[in-house]
Amino acid sequence: MHKLAQLDHAHVWHPFTQMRDWLRRDPIVIVSGKGAVLRDVKGKEYLDANASIWTNLHGHNHPRINAAIRQQLARIAHSSALGLANEPAAILAYKLVLAANQGIRGFRSAINATSAASNLESRVLNPRLAKVFFSDDGSTAVEVALKLAYEFARRTKGIRRPRFLSLEGAYHGDTVGAVSLGHIDLFHRAYGGLLFKSDNVMAPYCYRCPFNRAKPERADAREYRRCNWECVGKVERKLERQKKRGEPYAAFVFEPLMQGAAGMIPQPQGWLRRVAGLARGHGAQLIADEVMTGFGRTGSGKVQGPKSKVQASLFACHSEGVQPDFLCLAKGLTGGYLPMAATLTTQAVFDAFLGEYEEFKTFFHGHSYTGNQLGAAAALASLELLQSPASIRARQRLERTFSDALTPLWELPNVGDVRQAGLIAGVELVRNWRTREAFDWRERVGIRVCEGMAKRGVLTRPIGNVVVLMPPYGATPAQLQRMVEALQESVAETFPQ
Ligand code: PMP
Repeated sequence: MHKLAQLDHAHVWHPFTQMRDWLRRDPIVIVSGKGAVLRDVKGKEYLDANASIWTNLHGHNHPRINAAIRQQLARIAHSSALGLANEPAAILAYKLVLAANQGIRGFRSAINATSAASNLESRVLNPRLAKVFFSDDGSTAVEVALKLAYEFARRTKGIRRPRFLSLEGAYHGDTVGAVSLGHIDLFHRAYGGLLFKSDNVMAPYCYRCPFNRAKPERADAREYRRCNWECVGKVERKLERQKKRGEPYAAFVFEPLMQGAAGMIPQPQGWLRRVAGLARGHGAQLIADEVMTGFGRTGSGKVQGPKSKVQASLFACHSEGVQPDFLCLAKGLTGGYLPMAATLTTQAVFDAFLGEYEEFKTFFHGHSYTGNQLGAAAALASLELLQSPASIRARQRLERTFSDALTPLWELPNVGDVRQAGLIAGVELVRNWRTREAFDWRERVGIRVCEGMAKRGVLTRPIGNVVVLMPPYGATPAQLQRMVEALQESVAETFPQ
């Protein structure tokens, strides 16, 4: 075993990993990466088929992001946001507000604004999402939204004990507040005694929905389902019940379009628009957790503008015409380079924390690395890449290649569902596709299929029986094809017919 692997075995405790299994194996030790390729200490190359746990956008070792970080590094790596402002964080906040309000009705840009950083004055007039609170990762982005929404409900609506509603199967991170909003028993139940109580409500999961009367087909269940939007009715009743108690939910928390850690569960078109309207109508604010879905992951959607000025919304909410009150961003924010997160919110929420010093309305919350300059520089470079017309068109091409490449998976009898949203795919493995009979998690079929893929030089992680493919946007069509083929070969090997 390589000496780095020995050191790892001796001292590193890995996340979401049964360490007894880990210690039985010679670990892959990554030393470098380029584009969608990771190289290990032995010189073996792998395709990064889950974009380094859903973070990487433009590929590893990207020259533009590298250069942006280097340039920033030559000036300063970090100074505190407690009491000090800094250049890249201020510009990034402005750019995030622009991106988060793009295409939103009632949003206008002043015409005479200049983009020179020196006298960059915010040209965002009345954006709904106007303020940016920086933090470190997805969990902290959610914690910030949670605490702000809680206090906002107490201060402005007189709610004594604000409650939250989130979705069945929800996962919003591993810090205690985020875990309280989560509803995955396997991860969360053990910590019940530490958590505050939150309510959950049915999430759409068309493939396994008890209200879907359609028999399984070799197609995405969202398309052929037969139902009466019973899942929306469930949300409505929950909201109504809580409102009748005289204390509406402080907020409805959701991942838009695709619930990630729940097992890559996509929402049928129209679900988000409907439930967001209902939640607002019942007095709840909307917390959109776009930690996974943000920055174009769920697809470039409707692209606007002439060829040279092509624009695509970067956020999943917008594809349903929904603008949340809180937008939680992390993972892809820095292109997958550095741990940095942002929680965007409205002027109204911001105003609820204004007061004279001695009123102590201050938001007493923050982290040492809040607004970190290196992270912000990487994020600015990543945003620029994301918004260039060439990269939008390349992403759209890759989304189509992905969809074509996934089609043959339907021929495998142990593939029950193939669900794609943009450059995310979840492939659910089943014992029998005609009955949708599931495997017991203890059979570890997802893990076995991923091990077979690793043997073939393609790295990803399953969620139970669901194998996730989430390529970096910088992957070539051939690399994308290879990722899917490795999955196909490994499934065929794991379940010989
Ligand atoms: N929200 C969602 C939707 C996520 O997928 C994750 C991480 N997988 C988180 C929050 C937590 O993010 P982090 O691991 O960066 O704390």
